[in-house]
Amino acid sequence: VSRVVVKIGTSSLMHANGKLNLRAIDQLSYTLTGLVNEGKQVILVSSGAIGAGMGRVGLTKRPEQIQKQQALASIGQSELMTVYQQRFAAYGQQISQVLLTHDVLDYPQSRAYVHNTMEQLLDWGIIPIVNENDTVAVDELDHRTTFGDNDQLSAIVAVRSHANLLIMLSDIDGFYTGNPHQDTEAKLIRELHEVTDDSLKRAGGAGTEFGTGGMMTKLKAAAEILAHHQMMILANGANPSIIFNIMNGEEIGTLFM
Ligand code: ADP
Repeated sequence: VSRVVVKIGTSSLMHANGKLNLRAIDQLSYTLTGLVNEGKQVILVSSGAIGAGMGRVGLTKRPEQIQKQQALASIGQSELMTVYQQRFAAYGQQISQVLLTHDVLDYPQSRAYVHNTMEQLLDWGIIPIVNENDTVAVDELDHRTTFGDNDQLSAIVAVRSHANLLIMLSDIDGFYTGNPHQDTEAKLIRELHEVTDDSLKRAGGAGTEFGTGGMMTKLKAAAEILAHHQMMILANGANPSIIFNIMNGEEIGTLFM
């Protein structure tokens, strides 16, 4: 694997009390820096802006109003990037911020600009940190719609950048036969070659107050990856250094290929 996209969900970046999980961010920073130092190219797709914004203004519940969520994302995005900047700098790693919207990636001209910018950043050994531009788009926020969410954005980024692997980190060990929070019999599925209607039926919504897409958007991301004959691994991001184990080829989480 020489080019890897890592997506980390809000649930891995935030504590239940609304504070940023600094230990997770720190581990993520040194792990990704480690990969770059080994000669790999890394793109990070990071959620967590709204969660960070909520912590900033002292909210414990995600507001219903889209405009409030957008404002929180605007507050939280800079907060999040400041923390990333500090942690990555501690390991000597340069990062950059890339805010995308789906329509940008739909237009050939702007798609080419995004592509060229990303290639330049990766060529310079920088880790681009990608998020949806929440001020101008609501795809990710309106997670009740079938489109959007950073899960799918990460798949699009992985496809467009021809990444060898998409690592999706969540608050759960992988894709189960049912939502383990409701179904005690649910079993971890080790490998999936196809996202069928049956798999979609087994996927439920988000598990926490801060989580967004739930399993559904992760399966849709997996379907996009499979359609392009690429690879995705869904794993638990409680300790982001698990990425090292994944890169070592250990059997972890659910492999989509
Ligand atoms: P993130 O913030 O990491 O994107 P989400 O909360 O959006 O995480 O999604 C992960 C959650 O999806 C799990 O914690 C679990 O509650 C829920 N879920 C629903 N169906 C399944 C399933 N079949 N297998 C695993 N998790 C599932």
